[in-house]
Amino acid sequence: MSETASLIKSALAICLAVSCVCTSVIAQKKKTHPKEPVPQSELTRLRDEYVKATKEYKASLEKLLAIYEGNVKSAEEKLDNAKKLYEEGLISRSQVEENQRLVKTEQDKVSETRKQMVTADSQIADFLVEADADATLAKNLRLAKSKLIRTTSFIRYNGTAGWSLSDAGKIQRFFSDSFHKSLPIAVFGQGAIHDRWRLDHRNAMDIQLHPDGVEGQALMNFLQKNGIPFSAFRSAIPGTATGPHIHIGRPSHRY
Ligand SMILES: [Zn+2]
Repeated sequence: MSETASLIKSALAICLAVSCVCTSVIAQKKKTHPKEPVPQSELTRLRDEYVKATKEYKASLEKLLAIYEGNVKSAEEKLDNAKKLYEEGLISRSQVEENQRLVKTEQDKVSETRKQMVTADSQIADFLVEADADATLAKNLRLAKSKLIRTTSFIRYNGTAGWSLSDAGKIQRFFSDSFHKSLPIAVFGQGAIHDRWRLDHRNAMDIQLHPDGVEGQALMNFLQKNGIPFSAFRSAIPGTATGPHIHIGRPSHRY
């Protein structure tokens, strides 16, 4: 419980830091004259928080991986045992199959966790910039009600159609037909990162595309034409390439 509390506390600290930096960036861009640089210490702090959060997240995934690998091992042992009993005529074929399914389930958990470890950096960055946009809009309710919101750091389109993650196939087809490669989905639905920091991302997916790139632009046009809600983020975590992405679905909220 105290670990969770401290995680939430550190996540909030990170969001606050992101929010400070982004506000300064917006303020700078509004001026036409040469701008004051964001204080280096603030950028360094944000990057440090990001590095720390990523490290903590990876460490928690490693712990999870060890548990899941242990579960695979014991499921395999049970399966071996079941096979022997079956050969001796003591149990039915379906009992062996049940044990095979259990091994497969545990193996799937291991591979899903490994996948999460590979994309941990961009998941953390996506999470931070989404939380920051939410904080910005919470301060400006009039802006939050507009159908299309554009700030220097993000674009939010509220959509017209009902949206469900099960419609993802339509978007994937559009993208692969247009660009002859698959849609770069970084996060599909609720990931471990969202569970950890209590963000509801169940009906959304994050696409690792920069909103100013050709592919990002084409994707946003398609979404808008089809009334599908999205948020597109330009901000990067200082000192890293992570952060910019397109979130498809309604904005995610803390629960
Ligand atoms: Zn997202």
